[in-house]
Amino acid sequence: MNPNDNSPLAGPTASALSPNFTGKVVLVTGGSRGIGRAIVESMASLGGTVVFTYVSQHAEAKELESELQSRNFKVSAVQADVRKDELIAPLFESLEKDHGRLDVLVNNAGVTRDALIAGMDDSNWNDVLATNLTGPFNCSRRAARLMMRRRQGAIINISSLVAQRPGRGHCNYAASKGGLEAMTKALAAELAPRNIRVNCVAPGMIVTDMSQELRELAGDQVLARIPLKRYGEPSEIAASVCFLASEVASYITGTTLHVDGGMII
Ligand code: NDP
Repeated sequence: MNPNDNSPLAGPTASALSPNFTGKVVLVTGGSRGIGRAIVESMASLGGTVVFTYVSQHAEAKELESELQSRNFKVSAVQADVRKDELIAPLFESLEKDHGRLDVLVNNAGVTRDALIAGMDDSNWNDVLATNLTGPFNCSRRAARLMMRRRQGAIINISSLVAQRPGRGHCNYAASKGGLEAMTKALAAELAPRNIRVNCVAPGMIVTDMSQELRELAGDQVLARIPLKRYGEPSEIAASVCFLASEVASYITGTTLHVDGGMII
């Protein structure tokens, strides 16, 4: 760039170099715990009006809602199971009625049901695919309809290192996250003309309920594979999600950001 060139820059101006969600409506699936909870807290603290979902942990979700509301954050918790379209329909109807818009969707809700293939039940396969892949499809379809009207939006899908580096017992989870990364690229291409960006964040081993058993069973082996020699914190995933969802990342679409302490290497 020519330092004497005073012409306006395309993309974010200096004042827009940090993520800001003031005036934006954000939906985070699976926001009651773990990574989703950190995303809810970060986006609300950056000014967003955040609606988050949970499926079964009602008390935990309502506690988070009250705690954040007491800090004057605009947050609400809604029970909605992402596995079936009819179960998320009321959520999107009330989003439309209450806010008339959706700026950011974070498809975060996910589950694991690890098992070796010879012993994997149909229910383990079906539940993981329904939650981790059909769920983001269901929510993205309804979100896209809302976003297309205003010709703007950002969708962030939470994938996993396992999509690229699967291990034993992961065939259902790896298939769901690999499918999610492929869907991300397809939707990024399809929705770019409508100014809707679609990206993935792929966490490594993050300290949440989901990873607890593995950390307890194989902690030393896992740590040995992490170049930064520590697990990640949910807030470190939330920071990347806020970046990709914000105008700071206005020229980024169809990519996967690996947030894994270098495990992908
Ligand atoms: P947690 O198990 O801590 O939390 C999962 C969240 O998803 C909860 O809020 C849960 O709701 C919600 N959820 C589960 N099933 C459904 C459903 N059918 N409909 C709606 N919500 C649902 O998980 P993490 O925070 O660890 O994981 C978040 C995402 O990050 C997942 O997609 C996961 O695959 C991914 N990830 C996590 C890693 C890690 O090391 N932790 C590593 C790589 C990726 P409720 O509280 O009501 O049960």
